[in-house]
Amino acid sequence: MTRIGAVIVDEEHDTAFKQETGLRYNARDLAVVRAKFSGAVAVLGSATPSVQTFYNAEIGKFSRLVLPRRIKKRPMPEVSVYDLRQTKGLRGPARIISQPLHRAMRETLDQGKQVLLFLNRRGFAGHSVCLACGEPVRCRHCDITLTFHQAQHAYKCHYCGFSRPETMTCGVCGASTIRALGIGTEKVEALTRDLFPSARVSRMDRDTTSRKGSVKRMLKQVRDGDIDILIGTQMVAKGHDFPNITLVGIICADLSLDFPDFRAGERTFQLLAQVAGRTGRGDSPGRVILQTYNPAHFTIQAAKDQDYRRFYQREISFRKSLRYPPYAFLVQLKISGRDRKKTRERAWKIGKTGHALQAKHTRFSSTITILGPIEAPLARISGRYRWQMIIKGLRVRTLHQFVRQLAAIPSLRFNDREIRVAVDVDPYLMM
Ligand SMILES: [Zn+2]
Ligand SMILES: [Zn+2]
Repeated sequence: MTRIGAVIVDEEHDTAFKQETGLRYNARDLAVVRAKFSGAVAVLGSATPSVQTFYNAEIGKFSRLVLPRRIKKRPMPEVSVYDLRQTKGLRGPARIISQPLHRAMRETLDQGKQVLLFLNRRGFAGHSVCLACGEPVRCRHCDITLTFHQAQHAYKCHYCGFSRPETMTCGVCGASTIRALGIGTEKVEALTRDLFPSARVSRMDRDTTSRKGSVKRMLKQVRDGDIDILIGTQMVAKGHDFPNITLVGIICADLSLDFPDFRAGERTFQLLAQVAGRTGRGDSPGRVILQTYNPAHFTIQAAKDQDYRRFYQREISFRKSLRYPPYAFLVQLKISGRDRKKTRERAWKIGKTGHALQAKHTRFSSTITILGPIEAPLARISGRYRWQMIIKGLRVRTLHQFVRQLAAIPSLRFNDREIRVAVDVDPYLMM
């Protein structure tokens, strides 16, 4: 293309724009650079802008254009919060689909409208443990518990695909009392079918959409009214237009809130606001029932009121006091290898050398902070042990200079194949 006038990035907050393997880059940021090269204008669009982009508009780096109303002046959906702590001691489906949500689903179906249930975790249950010895059932290759998938009669690892049969025994004590705890979309689907036997129920997540064209087909079925209740993960949150969905039930809003990642709050707010926005897009107003264990959390409160500005103001003051982006720039070194000891030793060596380099020059010591190295929260994936080190810089040029100098030290062997060191600029997955 030779005469580019505008580059438009829709849903600019979407983390899918960040490339996580190979050359790591953010397509949104590249779009801005590309537009600049061509003397074109870049338009970043979102109902829930990334904190970074909104900040750029606040400081005047970007200019802000506001669409204050929904299309055809449709009202925002009404969101009510249900405190899941009330379900303690309850038995059966009411622990997962609360009384108010159950009632609202019944009313919605009686009106001939559709229901969307959202839970950001697939599978039948969250994690599996041995009831005899209490040991969680772990993947052989990853430091993570397996998720039970009822349809496949198997426990599966969501990171490497490792699977064990439903009939497995405990690897520690040999008992056959493995139980799946917690919830996933598959369990929500099973419960929904029990509660509404005559409703047409469908589930949209990575397990049901592996075949090409299946997402498109399912979306068409929803639009054509062939599905009464759609259950899904974050896949259903993405910009789809469902005019006949008048009720959204958020089964548990908290799943992404506790991620060890400074963007956990931002991502949770965006996800909840986007899911809520799937309702009330037709002529009938929509409503949302948001179930949570943290009803007082400011992210949940802001999502309830769909008040982006309130969320942003709290979030940006956190970022400022902790010096996280946009007030600082981050580079993450991801060190991984199949040998546990060698990986740890390399990480320590990089850390020690990094701290020494930082202390040696005042331009580094005055603007750069090194966090770690630490063992990654997901300490092993697909048989590779993982360590990470975060380098925080107040000035982007000095930060990149520092990383280049560190990477050029031959004894640290950044190009080694056995123990890989990945340099992730502006990391998104801090796990
Ligand atoms: Zn056991
Ligand atoms: Zn695994």
